[in-house]
Amino acid sequence: MNDESIEFEEIEGEMELVPPEIYAANLIGWAVERHASDLFISDLENSVQVAIRRLGKVEHVRRLARNYGHKLQGHLRVLAGADAGETIRPTDGRGVITTPESEVIDIRLSAIPTMYGQDITIRLFDPISGSLSIDQLGFEDVEFDEINALLHQKAGLILVAGPVASGKSSTLYASLDSLNDGTRKIHTLEDPIEHSIAGVMQTQVNLKAGLDFAELLTTVLRHSPDVIMVGEIRDERTAATAVRAGASGQLVLATIHAKTAVEAIYSMLHYGTHPQFLASSLIGVINQRLVKKLCGECKSPLDLGEIEVPERIRPRLDDTAPQVYQSTGCEGCFGDGFESLICVPEIVTINDEISAALAQQVPVNELEQVIRSKGSLSLGETLSSRIYRGVTTPYEANALVSDPHLADLLSRMRSAIDGTS
Ligand SMILES: [Zn+2]
Repeated sequence: MNDESIEFEEIEGEMELVPPEIYAANLIGWAVERHASDLFISDLENSVQVAIRRLGKVEHVRRLARNYGHKLQGHLRVLAGADAGETIRPTDGRGVITTPESEVIDIRLSAIPTMYGQDITIRLFDPISGSLSIDQLGFEDVEFDEINALLHQKAGLILVAGPVASGKSSTLYASLDSLNDGTRKIHTLEDPIEHSIAGVMQTQVNLKAGLDFAELLTTVLRHSPDVIMVGEIRDERTAATAVRAGASGQLVLATIHAKTAVEAIYSMLHYGTHPQFLASSLIGVINQRLVKKLCGECKSPLDLGEIEVPERIRPRLDDTAPQVYQSTGCEGCFGDGFESLICVPEIVTINDEISAALAQQVPVNELEQVIRSKGSLSLGETLSSRIYRGVTTPYEANALVSDPHLADLLSRMRSAIDGTS
């Protein structure tokens, strides 16, 4: 084993031989190469476990001897500026680490005491994924055009919805990137600031200092912004201020925790925003998920028999014959069968009819119907189109949303696989 390259597979409970700082740099470089989003270094009863989160799932990497694991934890805490001596209270910090390939990686570390010691979680900010442009997130052309049309409106509120880890901040950063051409004054309010963007005024929420989203948003409005990005709407004051800003000449981008576009709209109403004000401010909702994209090298076609593609999805197939694939696994995709996570959206552009229904605060089902009648695809429909185009599998799509057509595709997929084995 040399200092420059460490093999992270195999070996349990081995006494590591390299200094912890070299081990740390190698481990983080290795994790980033695999597009891991988090690294975990956790005390167990007799050892310290190293694991990563990759493509959304936790993978165990190896166990370290306790003593060595503690040195590694201590080194990472010092790097992140999180007091290495403070083991009673939770602590956090951030910093950068340089990998053996000379890549500089931003890390955010959080440590919490546990029964056997501590659990350290490190968010890894992949330098590549943070600087993706909007056409690299996995949107289809028609979706890309619709999102672009929303972003290039002069004013209004755009909500980006989805549960935790649905890629909302990648979409926001990519959106800002496309607006950041030097002709607009752009402010962001974030918690945490994940990536720095040249030319953009980025402000960190600081609850200890009493600076929450609502407080900062009110202040930022006095700074003559053209575009404001609000990390998350999670209270009444932020919701009201964001709506007001959108209605009075600013373009406001904000994330909100919701499962569908309609639910995002109703969350805003639950935060006490007036339906008519919201209707006059809101210009669009992008509800999204991250789905695993099949590896182009090894995906294999499945014969599902005669497929009746729903009418609404057909235009998305551009005359190509629908073909469903399953994952296999090859060297290029580390045996996973998948190569990355991509965005799948439900996009709702608010037109006069939707706006009128919203202003009257019609029931949820009715609003949903108005939105669908304007041709906007639900998340289930968008996922179906991705399956027919061979981008992902029925199995992955069903893990994200419940939809009768997707469920049917999954049961056909299972029968097809049983039939061939
Ligand atoms: Zn592959």
